[in-house]
Amino acid sequence: MKVTVFSSKPYDVASLSQVPDTIDWHFLEPRLDSDTAKLAKGSEAIVAFVNDDLSAPVLTELKSQGIKMVALRCAGFNNIDLEAANTLGLRVARVPAYSPEAVAEHAVALTMMLNRRLHRAYNRVRENNFSLDGLLGFNLHGKTVAIIGTGAIGRATARIFKGFGCKLVAYDLYPNTAFNDDIGGQYLPFEQAITQADIVSLHCPLTPDTYHLIDAGSLAKMKKGAMLINTSRGALLDTQAAIDALKSGQLGYLGLDVYEQEGDLFFEDLSNRIIPDDVFQRLLTFPNVVITGHQGYFTQEALSAIAQTTVDNLNAFHQGQLSGNELTKA
Ligand code: NAD
Repeated sequence: MKVTVFSSKPYDVASLSQVPDTIDWHFLEPRLDSDTAKLAKGSEAIVAFVNDDLSAPVLTELKSQGIKMVALRCAGFNNIDLEAANTLGLRVARVPAYSPEAVAEHAVALTMMLNRRLHRAYNRVRENNFSLDGLLGFNLHGKTVAIIGTGAIGRATARIFKGFGCKLVAYDLYPNTAFNDDIGGQYLPFEQAITQADIVSLHCPLTPDTYHLIDAGSLAKMKKGAMLINTSRGALLDTQAAIDALKSGQLGYLGLDVYEQEGDLFFEDLSNRIIPDDVFQRLLTFPNVVITGHQGYFTQEALSAIAQTTVDNLNAFHQGQLSGNELTKA
């Protein structure tokens, strides 16, 4: 079976090629969009990633090129028009839970970096500046962490914070008893959870309901000086509202691994370019903001698991089976 892989980087080529299989891979560097969709011609299926465009026009073009299946090599599926895929008869599968600890550990890394100002300390010491002014942190022990979305990643994050001695509260549309029983956390209504927390960590998917879940109103309800961590999807946060809250001091720390307009920035080396996104550039000016470029998932274990499940999903489709990871009807 010939499969075209969009947005492929050397590490994607390596991880997918390492899975023993007979798939005839066709790796392409460009992102999938209405211009590049035609490059999939001759393949039975495509593999796409978080910032590929899987809107109705692109899916229609893929279908006309002979594509029958879309295998997402990620957990989130906010970038695909599933209704259009269903109408077109395109099968869609994803990788639901490859390594929740990878993203959870990154969320906690951002928290620790912001709290102990490691990003500033690192640069200072390199310049022989050993002053501690401005580096004052706080003990995580005893602090309240609100986990918004207690799925696989949210619960993995909660387990780590529990190890620090934090109090865990959470909001989820579908509470999971494991959060109460195994982690000892407490579910609360959304507003109460974010009001009580010293740290709010976002782990719910991006859906029409969660778009700008954290906006000016919710930022105003958070504790003054609280920390917000978003490793989920950029559009959960109204970025301009976050900038306003940072300017007023209402928001004390912001750690982002995702950004609403990241499709134009992340995964590329733009160090020789002028970045036209003024909102992103403003974020970078704050000493209490740390941004990483969607690397939460980026561990060896996660890449291997993503590659294996992607191959399994493609094979299930090829053999006419219905995989449990499918998002569309067979
Ligand atoms: P999951 O499906 O296991 O958990 C999502 C949880 O969110 C579920 O418990 C669900 O009930 C809850 N939820 C759904 N709608 C909600 C709402 N409106 N309000 C509150 N909670 C809601 O998913 P997961 O594997 O834990 O992944 C969570 C998210 O993390 C993904 O959707 C994806 O966007 C993001 N992610 C980011 C990276 C990264 O590299 N930064 C990697 C993987 C996943």
